[in-house]
Amino acid sequence: MRNISETSVNDRYRVPKPRNFAELPLYLKRLASGFFSRLFYIFKLVWDTKRSLLFVMLFMAAFNGIMPVVGSIIGAAIINRLADAYSGALLTFGVIAVLLVLQFAYTFINQAVTRLYATVTSISGEQVSNHVKMLIMDKAKQVDMAKYDSPDFYARMENANREAGMRPIQIMSSTFSVLSVVISIISYIAVLFAVSWWSPILIVLVSIPVTVVNFVYRRKNVNYMFFRSKNRRQMDYYASTVIDKDLVKEIRMFNLGDTFTEKYKNAFDEYYSGLRRLRIEETLYGVAAAALTTVVYCLLYIFIAKGVFRHEFAVGDFSLYTGAITAIGAGVSNLITSTASIYEGTLFIENLITFLDEKPTIVPCIEEPRHVRRNTAHTIEFRHVYFRYQGMDRDVLKDINLTIHGGETVVIVGLNGAGKTTLVKLLTRLYDPTSGTVLLDGHDIREYAVDELYDMFGMIFQDFGKYAVTAGENIVFGDIERDAGESARREAAEQSGANVFIEKLENGYDTPLMRYFDANGAELSIGQWQKLAIARAFYSDSDILILDEPTASLDPMAEQDIFNRFNELRKNKTSIFISHRLSSATIADTILVMENGCIVEKGSHKELMEKKGKYFTLFSTQAARYVEEKDAVDD
Ligand code: ADP
Repeated sequence: MRNISETSVNDRYRVPKPRNFAELPLYLKRLASGFFSRLFYIFKLVWDTKRSLLFVMLFMAAFNGIMPVVGSIIGAAIINRLADAYSGALLTFGVIAVLLVLQFAYTFINQAVTRLYATVTSISGEQVSNHVKMLIMDKAKQVDMAKYDSPDFYARMENANREAGMRPIQIMSSTFSVLSVVISIISYIAVLFAVSWWSPILIVLVSIPVTVVNFVYRRKNVNYMFFRSKNRRQMDYYASTVIDKDLVKEIRMFNLGDTFTEKYKNAFDEYYSGLRRLRIEETLYGVAAAALTTVVYCLLYIFIAKGVFRHEFAVGDFSLYTGAITAIGAGVSNLITSTASIYEGTLFIENLITFLDEKPTIVPCIEEPRHVRRNTAHTIEFRHVYFRYQGMDRDVLKDINLTIHGGETVVIVGLNGAGKTTLVKLLTRLYDPTSGTVLLDGHDIREYAVDELYDMFGMIFQDFGKYAVTAGENIVFGDIERDAGESARREAAEQSGANVFIEKLENGYDTPLMRYFDANGAELSIGQWQKLAIARAFYSDSDILILDEPTASLDPMAEQDIFNRFNELRKNKTSIFISHRLSSATIADTILVMENGCIVEKGSHKELMEKKGKYFTLFSTQAARYVEEKDAVDD
């Protein structure tokens, strides 16, 4: 059975094949219209990045088209003059000299312009590629979080990223080279028409099989690449796992190196076997088609030599006409390869276009979005909220009804997988509910400007970010808009306890972390990273702060201490903590106990203990364990 992502990515590029001859024109029309619209898109990309490049390319296309014919005509003239001289005719040295100067000037101009062009395209190519990469990064920032849950999306992003590099400029350059080849073919046909009108037509006819082989296999190649996108992602993943700095310890200790290498090899074998077959098939058909053209060209040469077309030939003209045949042949084959490669390129680019067209759904649902009031207490309400992740067959949150008042400290507890993180993802509008409504200050959260909303929430996740920047920047990232100066970040570090190790680093707050870019980068322990992440939360000037278990590596006392400090410092601002340690929940105004996507209990510590329900059982079990552990340590 084919994987969902492979099928859908692959099918996007498929224009349904004609079932009979009558459907053929429509099929070709669809192929052509797709081709030209994608080509136009790339033109626009290049136009948006660097207009002058298109003019340079246009000039080069005309130049490259005309120059070979000019070269052949000069060459033939030189040979004719020399042949005249050898056959005893009067040699006018001046004419030969002028022709030779022309010949060398031609060679020089050709070389100089070609070099200049290569430089311009390589420099501009970098700019175009940079422009496309920026577009991809911008898009990656805008797309819904939910998209990141889909392998299809990753396939598209991987393909877009891979193709963003030099592909657009390659396509542009091939398009213009097609133009110059067409100009050159037309010029040579004009030359050849003087001796035989049908030989150019014959040359074009025999090139049809090569054309078909080329186009069919370019398309097969693109389809194959998308079909095997999963294998390529697997290869990237396994290769990066083995060299990942964070994983190296575990890979060594569990001796997983060979396992991942083997998995890599299997993915490669699957990817490679089909690719090899495709390449071999294409080569065999290509060789057969080339044999046909060679025979036809050979016959044409013989006809010219035997004077079938015209009896009287100067030697130079013979070289001009046979050269014209070779040039038309080479031109046609160049034309075929270039158009086929443009065609292939546009199919790849389709993927980039689809990715860049991705429309975020996490946007305000009304035309004039509401503004979020800042620095004030907010009320959040969940009304009959249900949620399920895309592609899942069960609800992760079920009928959640809940009100969190301004200034409240809420702790959400529950077993792993109960739905705690999902609840805060909905509360912060990283995701929208499948049904039901989340309200902020009495209005549907979807009515607010999304960036203002995100700015109002400060959230530190379980899998918080570890950024390869300085320790100070790692704290300031908590609220990048806030320009609070060095004292504020130091204060935040003191509140989380991160100041103790930061001050011992070589350059204090300015020490770069991790050794990705800097040999002097400091490596932190997981506990130190956690304190830094918490400092980020203290630094953030958010109205509603959410900590999703970033304290898991700290001991229970340290966690409780951190929660107490937040509680104290934030006074009338709302704080929401997720913790699996119930001892930390005692500080909360409200405790929410979650189980299987439902809120099963709600109340203060005292109320819930008196109720003797789920919370009571969980709390008593954990407390008993701590007592046992503490006794064991004391003994
Ligand atoms: P908790 O925070 O209580 O441990 P979560 O809210 O993270 O629980 O997860 C609730 C359920 O949703 C779990 O069964 C988990 O497997 C599932 N889940 C979480 N994230 C995703 C996702 N991105 N895609 C699909 N399922 C998910």
